[in-house]
Amino acid sequence: MLHKRLLPLALTAVLATAGCTFQIGDPSIVQPTPSSSIKQDAPQTGDGPTTEQGGVPTANDSFSDADVTKEINDAVDVVNTYWSTHWSEFFTGTYTAPRVLGAYNGSDPNRFTCGGEPALEMNAYFCIPEDYVAWDFNLMRDGYAEGDAWIYLVIAHEWGHAIQHRLDTSLVSAASELQADCLAGAVLYGATKDGTLLWEAGDTAEISAGLTKLGDETPWTDPSSHGDAIERVSAFGKGRTGGVLGCLNSA
Ligand SMILES: [Zn+2]
Repeated sequence: MLHKRLLPLALTAVLATAGCTFQIGDPSIVQPTPSSSIKQDAPQTGDGPTTEQGGVPTANDSFSDADVTKEINDAVDVVNTYWSTHWSEFFTGTYTAPRVLGAYNGSDPNRFTCGGEPALEMNAYFCIPEDYVAWDFNLMRDGYAEGDAWIYLVIAHEWGHAIQHRLDTSLVSAASELQADCLAGAVLYGATKDGTLLWEAGDTAEISAGLTKLGDETPWTDPSSHGDAIERVSAFGKGRTGGVLGCLNSA
């Protein structure tokens, strides 16, 4: 994927890590206070672009940690820009971005905590009580080795949880993980429509592979909490074709 910088960077990602453990639906976490409801006259976002070339995932044979970090920063910028630009088309209230603690080392004893619990190894998460997103750098690096779309998927998904946290609970699906996948699809294809993200040959295959192949290896993609591979790909596709509104409970 290629990030086209149409706007100056408004957000700087700081390296850190985390996972999907501390999310909406986790009974150990206090549920957020609903702040925004859907607009009555919210326009549809329309169908996603159809410029994807398809093809096999594009593996990155040789890369540095700096390459991974750059891709992470680009993905954060793309996703935040999308929500910042389009929030008022869908919802009342004002958009606020979650904090980006970013990458951590899952084996670092001083890694991030959420509600007092240390971040899980090979995970990515949105921390509800502290309103931040974070990811294990190794999760990002391993996924990046299979193709850069993985990083965009993870960040768009976790950002989706942050969005859920900002919505009236009536709009948040009980299947919150699949809804986050849907929102990720809506944002990545929406950003493409905006011209801030270019899909390259193989990106779609990388997304599918990321939602399936890595599914049984990391907490982030635990089928018991995130749905199985078919459900996840289907949810992502729903966001691609239906946009943000197509992902909401009342849609
Ligand atoms: Zn999740």
